Amino acid sequence: MLELKNIKKDYYVAGKPVPALKGINLVFKDQEFVSILGPSGCGKTTMLNLIGGLDRYTSGDLLIDGKSTRDYKDQDWDAYRNATIGFVFQTYNLISHLSVLDNVEMALRLSGVEPKERKERATKALVDVGLQDHLTKRPNQLSGGQMQRVAIARALVNNPKILLADEPTGALDSKTSDQIMKLMKEIAKDRLVIMVTHNKDIADEFSDRVVNLLDGLVIDDSNPSENNDGKDVVGKLVNKKTSMPYLTALSTSFKNLLTKKGRTLITALAGSIGIIGIALVLSVSSGMTAYVDELQSDTLAGFPLTIEQYYVDFAEVGQERLSEEGYFPEGEDIVGYDPQSDFITHANIITDDFITYLEDLDETTYNSISYTSSMHLNIAAEGTKDNDELLEDDFYSQLPNNEEFILSQYDVIKGDLATSMNEVVIVVDAKNRLDFDFMEALGLSIDGSYTFDDLIGLELKVFPNNLYYSESGGIYSGNNNISSIYDDSDAMTLTVSGIIRVNEDASTDLVASGIAYTEALTDYMLEDSMDSDVVAAQLLSPTVSIVSGYNIYEVLLAIGGTDVPASIQIYPVSFDAKEEIKDYIDAYNETVDETYAIYATDLAAIISTSISSLISTITIILSAFAGISLVVSSIMIGIITYVSVVERTKEIGIMRSLGARKKDISRIFNAETVLIGFTSGLLGVIITLVLIIPINLILANLLDVSGFAQLMWSSAIGLIVLSTFLTLIAGLIPSRIAARKDPVTALRTE
Ligand code: ADP
Ligand code: MG
Repeated sequence: MLELKNIKKDYYVAGKPVPALKGINLVFKDQEFVSILGPSGCGKTTMLNLIGGLDRYTSGDLLIDGKSTRDYKDQDWDAYRNATIGFVFQTYNLISHLSVLDNVEMALRLSGVEPKERKERATKALVDVGLQDHLTKRPNQLSGGQMQRVAIARALVNNPKILLADEPTGALDSKTSDQIMKLMKEIAKDRLVIMVTHNKDIADEFSDRVVNLLDGLVIDDSNPSENNDGKDVVGKLVNKKTSMPYLTALSTSFKNLLTKKGRTLITALAGSIGIIGIALVLSVSSGMTAYVDELQSDTLAGFPLTIEQYYVDFAEVGQERLSEEGYFPEGEDIVGYDPQSDFITHANIITDDFITYLEDLDETTYNSISYTSSMHLNIAAEGTKDNDELLEDDFYSQLPNNEEFILSQYDVIKGDLATSMNEVVIVVDAKNRLDFDFMEALGLSIDGSYTFDDLIGLELKVFPNNLYYSESGGIYSGNNNISSIYDDSDAMTLTVSGIIRVNEDASTDLVASGIAYTEALTDYMLEDSMDSDVVAAQLLSPTVSIVSGYNIYEVLLAIGGTDVPASIQIYPVSFDAKEEIKDYIDAYNETVDETYAIYATDLAAIISTSISSLISTITIILSAFAGISLVVSSIMIGIITYVSVVERTKEIGIMRSLGARKKDISRIFNAETVLIGFTSGLLGVIITLVLIIPINLILANLLDVSGFAQLMWSSAIGLIVLSTFLTLIAGLIPSRIAARKDPVTALRTE
């Protein structure tokens, strides 16, 4: 039972109240067919909207089952509309991009009916109004009468107690009108139907009661009901709270988006640009990081930690700038200085203690430790023999004692790597060149043409101290008649076993062009020299060098009189192991005086640290750009959502008239932005994966690496989530605007 008590409605035009209803008093029974008649502008629609809870009265009261609605909140009206009211409009108000069936289902979606039941009930409602053959059609494929039948089916599908119809036949021809009216009369058999019309004949013919309105007042009522304050209530009006589940909102939005595929795709594409940017930056930078890591572990990890006589802190070198204080002084004083002091250096004093300490280093952390002696080997070759000279020390050096490491830096281009102390290799440069002087030393002609084969098998000699040095008047000197000792049985023969050449991956030339011998030879010669006469004599003379050509500081090292190495190379097994070794050496430094502290040089770290910091700088800059484009594309999605809100104002009005709460509307729009955000994230990831293919091809050419740029799964998922989240945020304001739209105004817009 419905009762209007002195209902007034003012519209505000330019801030001033304009009355549309001036005090309506009406009582409706639970079952009757009432026609509201009156000229245009007299307030019929206004009254119907108030009864349907679509609009709010200014004063008076609307009693539902005798209960006041003065304290109704928005959600009470929404529930009332959804459960109790069915609306039919003159202009049908169907949602044009949904099928006939979906239009009818919409009312059920809003009240949270399960999909299966939804379809059954909607189909039945459409069959009831005679539209069984048109379920999948779009509204614009139907005639006016058929569209109105859809609207009626939609209004009835929730089985409302009250059907409100605003000039339902106003746009129809008389024959169709008649059919619709017969349907209305049928419907009115078990509910209250209030129909607005300005056709008096129709009102008289079909309805039980005709109410005449004029200028916002009731001027005539053919069959007024008693105001009995709900005493004759047949069935109570129950306001079941409506709710649209999230999933339904999502599927509703999905349907919406599917009807506008092109536009959705363009929006998602626009949104994906930022994601593509970030995804590309991520995949390239992770490729770079992986590349550097690989470089570190594959190539650079093989680089030894070296303990040289002097440690130079490369990180400190070259940091000063000419603009700094202390440069360009004012005075005229000359300043004397030691150029060495410009470098922050430390003299590593390698002691027996340290070597003993190093012997306890965890063996799993290194491939090998190599001790380099600074003993001068007395080497001669065919060419130098004739000049009675030794081989210049520029032309020989010791191979690192780690074969794996050598092979990572050098290719054996002919023969075999020297492995025993009697073998040496010849090192050619990257152009297969040999120094003219070296060629002559080997006894080759600088005009001659030679192949690798001509070098293999060449022989050189090493002279032990006792063979090479001779004493005269307490002073030892080297033999200057090399040819006389060259074929001596005490001279050791070295045979060229192979030729090695620095390879493309090598970072530095570790071994200079010339010959390179094994550590075994050094060890052997060192042991031999310890027992030699010259060393014994020198050990007896601690303050003066007794060997011509050497001063007291270098003499013992040069003639092999000490087994303390001049330098140490530690070859770590991995990058992490190298850190462990450094820690181990640091621990040693804790136990000794600073003077005896040992600082190892890590060439690999110097190279890779500068690369890593360059990469992270580039990554940050690129990410900033990509971030900006992400923000821009999010704003764009916000704008597009807003445009879509404006565009779908009418649809929002229709949904509200079907009982959608504000929440449902914002849910639908939020679901839509979530779907768009998800799609653009997905699209962004897919496009990135496609773009990575040519990028990797280009990088493969430039850097000689394959699969450089890689998008990690975690990044891909993270980006899709980010995109979804950002577009949801961007869509929040437009979706609130949509939810707040006044349903009556929304319905009026075209
Ligand atoms: P009817 O349906 O009987 O033709 P309405 O109920 O639509 O009449 O309108 C009643 C009166 O209220 C009219 O004078 C109309 O101009 C005015 N009116 C309706 N809606 C609004 C509105 N949103 N703002 C201002 N005036 C309005
Ligand atoms: Mg009207």
